[in-house]
Amino acid sequence: SSRGASSITQESCKEVEATKDYESKYETLESIGKGAFGFVKLARQKQTGDHVVVKFIRRSKVLKDCWAEDATLGLVPLEVSLLAKLKHPNIVTMIDYFKGGSEDELDQLVMEKHGSGMDLFEFIDRSPNLDEALASYIFRQVVSAVSYLHSLDILHRDIKDENIIMNEQFQVKLIDFGSAAFMKPGKFSEYALISIHRYSGPELEMWSLGVTLYTLVFGENPFYDIEETINCVMSLPFDVSQDLTEVLEWLLCPLPEHRATIGDMEGDPWVQQPFNLNDYTWKDVLPNFEFHGNTAADNREDTPDVKKRLCSSSSSFGGHDDGCRDDN
Ligand code: ADP
Ligand code: MG
Ligand code: MG
Repeated sequence: SSRGASSITQESCKEVEATKDYESKYETLESIGKGAFGFVKLARQKQTGDHVVVKFIRRSKVLKDCWAEDATLGLVPLEVSLLAKLKHPNIVTMIDYFKGGSEDELDQLVMEKHGSGMDLFEFIDRSPNLDEALASYIFRQVVSAVSYLHSLDILHRDIKDENIIMNEQFQVKLIDFGSAAFMKPGKFSEYALISIHRYSGPELEMWSLGVTLYTLVFGENPFYDIEETINCVMSLPFDVSQDLTEVLEWLLCPLPEHRATIGDMEGDPWVQQPFNLNDYTWKDVLPNFEFHGNTAADNREDTPDVKKRLCSSSSSFGGHDDGCRDDN
């Protein structure tokens, strides 16, 4: 598989043990991603029939820097505490949360089901007919979410196509706050973090945005091996506009101090170029795709043009050594 392998663990094969409260309210349906992400599943709210997405979190797997004492929820994974408070059109909405009690009981983080659950990885893997305007529309929504986070001194720290979900109107939302951290102490102090030893800057996040944009536009990673990554040898597989080339070079600038900031992206003419949603239909962009019940990684294994993903957008440049493990 060309996806990040973080979630493929022995444990994801084990039977999931959910809390009683969760079980009484939701009916768990199929896994999203055919077992590769065994701990994210579709579910149905029993009373309303609404479909939701549930992330099962094993508390023993959450690293010590990734806990928060939440005023209403108590001691919870930071991921949960953050999602409970964040409110933005391009960030997934948390609907419910159930805290696992005993050792082998898992937490359930219930989220809205946005679209049919397709993430940007699958979208890109299906070779969409994208022009620059549509790419800019998708990208500017991620920029908007990240700008909101940075305004709260929050770093997502795992921005990549897998952690962005999309609906049929090309609206995207950021998910997976399992690696998030604060830039510095101060704002949001009500979070009363248990222990955050280091605070990192936003530059790495901008780099990740650059990798994500490059991948969206070209359908492949900007850097193919560690050496290329270290030397930042970026070559474009085909010509794009001068404005887009400059945005990519600005985001993937080797010197962090010269790299674009989120404010730069919010004011960038390419990122904010005119866009008319009425010019695009899902069918035209993905002609060979039909939605069906289960989603995300369904056809991952037999997709012909599996992308090479040696450097994930966030791990390139050796950034998040102090982050949380991704295998919940
Ligand atoms: P992990 O921390 O293991 O990477 P994620 O929270 O990223 O877990 O979820 C794994 C995958 O499940 C995502 O890449 C995405 O495909 C899918 N997914 C997660 N949350 C949602 C959601 N709310 N809606 C649709 N798909 C989701
Ligand atoms: Mg993820
Ligand atoms: Mg994660």
